[in-house]
Amino acid sequence: MQRITILGATGSIGRSTLAVIAEHPDRYHVFALTARQNIALLTRQCIAFRPNYAVVATDEHVAHLQRTLADSGCTTEVLCGVDALCEVARHRDVDTVMAAIVGAAGLKPTLAAVQSGKRVLLANKEALVMSGRLMMDEVQRSQAVLLPIDSEHNAIFQCLPSEFDNLEQAGISGILLTGSGGPFRAADAATLGAVTPAQACAHPNWSMGRKISVDSATMMNKGLELIEACWLFNTNREVISVLIHPQSIVHSMVQYVDGSVLAQLGNPDMRTPIAHCLAWPHRICSGVPALDFAQLSQLTFEEPDWGRFPCLKLAMEAAAAGQDYAVALNAANEIAVDLFLQETIGYTKIASLISETLENWAPNEPESIDDVIEADLRARRQTQSAAKNL
Ligand code: NAD
Ligand code: MG
Repeated sequence: MQRITILGATGSIGRSTLAVIAEHPDRYHVFALTARQNIALLTRQCIAFRPNYAVVATDEHVAHLQRTLADSGCTTEVLCGVDALCEVARHRDVDTVMAAIVGAAGLKPTLAAVQSGKRVLLANKEALVMSGRLMMDEVQRSQAVLLPIDSEHNAIFQCLPSEFDNLEQAGISGILLTGSGGPFRAADAATLGAVTPAQACAHPNWSMGRKISVDSATMMNKGLELIEACWLFNTNREVISVLIHPQSIVHSMVQYVDGSVLAQLGNPDMRTPIAHCLAWPHRICSGVPALDFAQLSQLTFEEPDWGRFPCLKLAMEAAAAGQDYAVALNAANEIAVDLFLQETIGYTKIASLISETLENWAPNEPESIDDVIEADLRARRQTQSAAKNL
């Protein structure tokens, strides 16, 4: 029985994780579920999965949730706050942590899971983008097992040899990171200034949370994923190419020096990488229908249009400039996307705001997680004040 904490249980990844777990009640015990706002869903999840703990963001919901659960005969203990998130991530009775909080808010609990040597299923890419080498050093030190949930990284992981020291020694000449190009891949660039949050969140192939949906539209998501891939696979940016693949069937590919290319294919449904990481190195059913090749009309690939996706370019530049710039990029993006989702700024201003933050950024290479958190807060303040002058 694997005992699991799900950080961000009410989100898109959290719900998909519980859907897979529900198919295998003999293999997985839910130890803790956490959520920020959707208390109604968290309540239903607790009643269905009977975790030992539920963690919410603030204390306003604790008493009510605790009462509702007790009335339903559920003995789940309700806790709140970031320290409690870290506690259920590092608890000695936990084997596996699904890190599925969105954004920088997931950094501390994800790191707590890593530092206590858990099997960590990493969806929260922002945590790794921010902490980079610091997190990977903790993985080494604690012997944590870090498994990639992000569909591209999960695909790459599946196409790599099971053991190797570095990509070159394994005969790998390149990694092809695929991305759909999002809802505006073929839109007239002149119309982008007027797109609404609803349009930006209407991804053609994937159903996801709102922040990552906007990141997919701007292709900041692919930029963050490129940085994520460098850390996960211990390689540099030159080895990785971004390739637009509008159908989202090939989830990424690995090229070998002999001319072979290994790809992982599947329907665009996160239950596949989630089931893969839950069961690794074994396989379990995910509930995702098998790919029907007779129904696939075509699979196409093209180079990204750099002019259309300035956020992708900004991410590439930040990655080259160092860890501190990656923190600033991520923080500026989180603020800009939030302002766009609140309809405070237009879609094209997302890239302008991030660009302005990076241009005025005074770098200071982080040597600790406290440095990372300090840089994150500084970049947020800088982006918020730039937004006032837009
Ligand atoms: P989501 O918005 O649907 O869910 C986010 C979850 O995090 C919710 O449970 C929410 O309650 C929790 N949360 C948000 N802010 C919090 C805070 N301040 N404190 C505590 N909890 C907080 O997001 P998602 O689409 O499930 O994405 C989660 C992560 O997985 C992101 O990092 C995203 O990039 C990554 N990811 C998602 C997908 C996908 O298909 N959805 C694919 C690949 C990677
Ligand atoms: Mg992805």
